[in-house]
Parts: sequence; structure tokens; C-alpha cells
Amino acid sequence: MSSDIFDHTVICKDCDKAMEKVRILKNGFYFRVLECKKCDNRIVHPEDKLEYQNFLKLRNKQFNVKLRMVGNSYTVSIPREIVNFINEQDKIMDEMVKLSFERMGKLVLIFNEKFEEKEGDEE
Ligand SMILES: [Zn+2]
Repeated sequence: MSSDIFDHTVICKDCDKAMEKVRILKNGFYFRVLECKKCDNRIVHPEDKLEYQNFLKLRNKQFNVKLRMVGNSYTVSIPREIVNFINEQDKIMDEMVKLSFERMGKLVLIFNEKFEEKEGDEE
């Protein structure tokens, strides 16, 4: 097992105070952060930073998927790349998702509502 700096006490380089472990939510991502309460220096956990970068890459990608008629409904396939990423983050993807008609020309799928509710009250 590799050692994790977040398991140790980290001293702020500017004020010699022990940094505190906090969690920050951004775009549905939790970041483990070490924070100095005195000067606001922050160290984001490198693993979380990397995962977030992977997310941004995926977010900027546009997939062309085909609509298929099944019975009276249309189905779309969600690309494997996205499903895998959600599963890694979320452990397991729910079979039920919420779908809403956000505006003309745009549908939204919600895989996990916990990220919807907590968004905005970041600390
Ligand atoms: Zn400090």
C-alpha cells in the first residue's frame, strides 16, 4: 500500500500550523483537501485532482448516438466510456435514472440525485 500524505499531519508551509482535512464538492465531485484555516492555503488530493481532470475531458467530449425505436419509445445508448466512469465514481450505477425535458432541444438524465441536492452548499 502506498503512503498517502492525507493520512499524515501536514504543516502549512507559510504559517507552520497543522492543516485540516476538509471535503469540497464541485460539479458533483468530492475533493479531499487539506486546508490551512489561518491563510487559506489548500492542497487538493492528487488522486481527486486526476479524477476530476478525467471528468473534464469526458465532459468536453460530444458523442453521436443513435435513437432507436423500441415499442412506443425511443432508446439511446449511453457510451461505455461514460458508464464506466460513472461506475468507477459511484461504485454502481442505478438501473433507474431520472429523465427530464430541460428545455426545447435538451433532455437531462440524472443518475444520482445526491449530487443534485448538495450542489451549491460547498464549504
Ligand atoms: Zn497557512
